[in-house]
Amino acid sequence: MPATPAYPPHSAPRLYIDVELSDGAEVRLDGSHAHYLLKVMRIKEGQPIKLLDDRTGEYLAHVTMLGKRDLILLVDGKTREREDVPDLWLLAAPIKKDRYNWIAEKATELGIAKMTPVQTQRTQNTAIRADKLRAHMIEAAEQCERTALPILDELVKLDVLLESWPSDRHLFFADERIHESGEGSFRKALVAHDGPAAILIGPEGGFSDAENAMIRALPQSIPVSLGPRILRADTAAVAAISLWMAGRGDWNG
Ligand code: SAH
Repeated sequence: MPATPAYPPHSAPRLYIDVELSDGAEVRLDGSHAHYLLKVMRIKEGQPIKLLDDRTGEYLAHVTMLGKRDLILLVDGKTREREDVPDLWLLAAPIKKDRYNWIAEKATELGIAKMTPVQTQRTQNTAIRADKLRAHMIEAAEQCERTALPILDELVKLDVLLESWPSDRHLFFADERIHESGEGSFRKALVAHDGPAAILIGPEGGFSDAENAMIRALPQSIPVSLGPRILRADTAAVAAISLWMAGRGDWNG
């Protein structure tokens, strides 16, 4: 006899809804949400669904009405408060679409607060599909039990970004050229620099000399190395976020 799943079953679908939720609220779903629940998950009346709103937390709901292309959920109650997110921004020059989507997904899992696409001299791909990028973030948050989503900024030019850089935020600049100088230990930089932070990663071709100088001229910028090997931009982003999380984030390590 199959075991009765504990309520709610671990496999209850988990969805991000772009409205503020509360206990007892009724939520009507249509479009891609409804398609997923009706056609992919073959959801039945009464079945539990977890919802997150990126505003107040996570809720348990159940299906009260099934239509052909829509359905209604009743929110039973809050299961978790919205999580605290470490104060880290990722500033990453766009790279090839699939790899950039991958960065958005992994950065969401790792727990950044904001992602900013940065246009640099060697940025090839400036046609950012914000909706697609955001969809990758949402999917990662839904799958990985997150109750918060990173903010996704619009594409900003590097010089504009640096001109208006907040005075109280460190900018850890991932510079693949600093290693040879024997400086740029990320670990030491993290020990010395507490507080709001951001990580800056260049495109496939790296930053130009002029850009490198411009970034270094910013008082809040701290050039850091990710080791003696050149990494692809997507690897560099994940490695740098992980290092920061372990040193200054909430990995308790
Ligand atoms: N300049 C190289 C590689 C660019 S790698 C080229 O011409 O192809 C893309 C980005 O990843 C860099 O701009 C940098 O931000 C980051 N990166 C890669 N390896 C790194 C390392 N070992 N240390 C610090 N940053 C690194």
